[in-house]
Amino acid sequence: MSFAPPSLLTIDLDAIAANWRWLDARHPGQTAGVVKANAYGLGAAYVAPKLFAAGCRNFFTAHLAEALTIRPLVGQANVMVLHAMLPDEAEVFTHHGITPVLSSLPEIALWATEGKRVGRVLPALLQVDTGMSRLGLSAEETRVLFNNPDLLTGITITHVMTHLMNAEISEHPSNETQYQRIRTFQRQFPDARLSLANSSGLFLAPKFAADLARPGAALYGVNPTPGRLNPLTPVVQLHGKIIALRDVEPGTEVGYNGVWTARRPSRIATVAVGYADGYFRCLTNQAFGYFDGTPAPLVGRVSMDLTTFDVTGIANLNLGDSLELLGPHCTPDNLAQAANTNGYEILTALGARYQRHYIGAVPAT
Ligand SMILES: *Cc1c(COP(=O)(O)O)cnc(C)c1O
Repeated sequence: MSFAPPSLLTIDLDAIAANWRWLDARHPGQTAGVVKANAYGLGAAYVAPKLFAAGCRNFFTAHLAEALTIRPLVGQANVMVLHAMLPDEAEVFTHHGITPVLSSLPEIALWATEGKRVGRVLPALLQVDTGMSRLGLSAEETRVLFNNPDLLTGITITHVMTHLMNAEISEHPSNETQYQRIRTFQRQFPDARLSLANSSGLFLAPKFAADLARPGAALYGVNPTPGRLNPLTPVVQLHGKIIALRDVEPGTEVGYNGVWTARRPSRIATVAVGYADGYFRCLTNQAFGYFDGTPAPLVGRVSMDLTTFDVTGIANLNLGDSLELLGPHCTPDNLAQAANTNGYEILTALGARYQRHYIGAVPAT
């Protein structure tokens, strides 16, 4: 006999599809779906086919292994890998029809060699470092490439791309600087299209959306416009099951190291979610659970598998009920603020041992 894990993570795939359609309708170009890191922790095997059914024909992953996972789930759509291609991977890319993002001269050489081996011209995106100093051709590599166009023999550059370092800060001058740099670069590739916007980039001036936008976080309900109202539909709910309830006297310490002490007669609910589930330890004394919309402060240390909440005075609450830890009253962005991080880290840290419920799953073909 098997038992479902006590706490429940609900992932609304219909909301993800609606978010993709809404973002896609904001601009005339194409809109990819970024499904790296297991679709930001939500399950790429569910998210990718859902996006495909919604009309998405361009997918980005970080790693080749992630691309191989979704390749059979998205028909003939373009599957592109953001990270550097390693020497022994080139033949895997061609064998599975996966497109690399080339970010250095050695990678360009590798892909050109692979093209010769298979005897056809191979597509690729070309990434340029316009300010982030992370991935992409450096200024020096760019010079070498412009002086030696033969390096690209056997490769079709479908898009030139770069990544914005301050897209969520709409007034930041680096956005325009990076735009000008990639446009200058693009002039050397008149046939290539342009890709630079992540989620937040789609909320800058319209030109940033360019030919192929690459939203990730916004698809999953994270606010791409921090400080302003979130225009996207929420996707994730987390309900933590109450597995113990106790009444404690004033002066009672709760949890490791007694970092919270009851000041009044209190009712403490112990919930089966902890930092091993991605409910960060730094949320200790900082967050809230909600019962029917009523806030219950997190009290005491978050431990590995358990977290305690002060539910004093909340009527009709019983053992076996659940507290909303993520949902309408506490979004990933809200929880991120309490944990001093961003919504991306909240989502990608969501644990593997929740019971997962998917709304709107596409039947497997
Ligand atoms: C992760 C990533 C994206 C998606 O970014 P979001 O902010 O989640 O929309 C787009 N482009 C690149 C290069 C990335 O690494």
